[in-house]
Amino acid sequence: MADVETYIKDLKDSIIKRDPNQPEFQEAAFTVLDTLKPVLKKHPEYVKNNILGSLVEPERAIQFRVPWQDDEGNFHINRGFRVQFNSAIGPYKGGLRLHPSVNLSIIKFLGFEQILKNSLTGLPIGGGKGGSDFNPKGKSDSEIMRFCQSFMTELQKFIGPDLDVPAGDIGVGGREIGYLFGQYKRLNGFQGGILTGKGLQYGGSLARTEATGFGLIYFLNALIKDQKDTLKGKTVKISGAGNVAIYALQKAQENGAKVVTVSDSNGYVYDPNGIDLDTVKQIKEVERGRIKEYADKISTAEYHEGSVWDFDIDYDIALPCATQNEINEDQAKLMVKDGAKYIAEGANMPSNTDAIAVYKQNDIIYGPAKAANAGGVAVSALEMSQNSERLSWTFDDVDKQLKDIMEDIYQKIADADAEYGLNQDYQAGANIAGFEKVAKAMLDQGLV
Ligand code: NAP
Repeated sequence: MADVETYIKDLKDSIIKRDPNQPEFQEAAFTVLDTLKPVLKKHPEYVKNNILGSLVEPERAIQFRVPWQDDEGNFHINRGFRVQFNSAIGPYKGGLRLHPSVNLSIIKFLGFEQILKNSLTGLPIGGGKGGSDFNPKGKSDSEIMRFCQSFMTELQKFIGPDLDVPAGDIGVGGREIGYLFGQYKRLNGFQGGILTGKGLQYGGSLARTEATGFGLIYFLNALIKDQKDTLKGKTVKISGAGNVAIYALQKAQENGAKVVTVSDSNGYVYDPNGIDLDTVKQIKEVERGRIKEYADKISTAEYHEGSVWDFDIDYDIALPCATQNEINEDQAKLMVKDGAKYIAEGANMPSNTDAIAVYKQNDIIYGPAKAANAGGVAVSALEMSQNSERLSWTFDDVDKQLKDIMEDIYQKIADADAEYGLNQDYQAGANIAGFEKVAKAMLDQGLV
């Protein structure tokens, strides 16, 4: 049997050889592989049965053509994906992303992260992810509808309430889930549990919209409390102005923090008085506008082009809620200079590997995405439970369960940190805590 170091090195080499053009997937997989070394040393059976070799290979990766017609009658062809990564602990569960950058590497990185994230929630859900390189920006409602109908016409062959249950992600909110659900229903009849993030009128869960952003703050609160500190009075930078960012902003403010930035892919606004939640909601959720418009509406705010992570102001907490690799090494160094003490990731993999190294070298307490943003998928799983029961729970009931789940996730990764002597390396703690459940389930089922 290979020793752990050789085993991991050989696995990385085989990933590079098989998937040379998948940098995002490689980054996500290599980070997890490195942080799992202490577990492999303790559990040689995982090496003997090549559990990690199975873990990094999706059970299934589907790619399909998505033809659709625009309002002028032109035909377009996009590429659709669904990666069904791992079903060891439950049906595949993970969002659909509509963004021009989408490719197999990005969907695989997200699906891979989803395996361990879903495990951390303690709920019976496996890992998957999907999406398309379709760009929803600037499209009419009818174009979005035709695209979603075409996408689902193909996807419906591969999903089911006990098989694979997609949800939203970047570019997929309530409107898109509605069109996707409607098309599934036309083809297969009403099945409430086929998608999550549904409208409240047809099986959606209260608090799903808020779940990832609220969950991020519940997680952050647990982490900060353990440092004998509090969110109250802290200055916070948020990136993004989408679903995750908006509800992180709301809950951070409810906890007495002052959030001074939000952003989109063009630029960011800085409001020294604290960002006004209602104005952001109006621009993004009602008008579907650009964040630049905030500065037209609020006189104390400034708008700047570029990344919010290049903006030099003193602050305490960073909450990246936009997209992957939005923070690089230099931006992480600026974070240190600006006095940030905590970072909790609302987006998936927003910090690149070099940025994470800077956090660790400078004692910034780092809450990794797969733990910090698990609230969305957790409430999606609660939506599945409600659909199975054919009942709807109250907002407060779901919100309370979400809070309990996020506190439990923090506890699990803090326990793993203590058990393996990781010295507040919550990234390793999250990978280990998520992995152990999946690995045991894989071994028990003979899935090697
Ligand atoms: P969303 O509603 O579509 O919002 C995404 C936000 O990020 C928008 O403000 C967008 O600006 C901005 N953004 C996208 N690409 C960017 C870039 N390259 N540079 C700067 N800003 C960029 O999506 P979301 O649901 O909030 O998701 C945000 C992140 O959270 C993603 O990483 C997603 O995977 C993760 N996440 C989401 C959930 C969930 O429940 N929604 C759960 C877990 C994790 P533009 O409008 O300019 O594109």
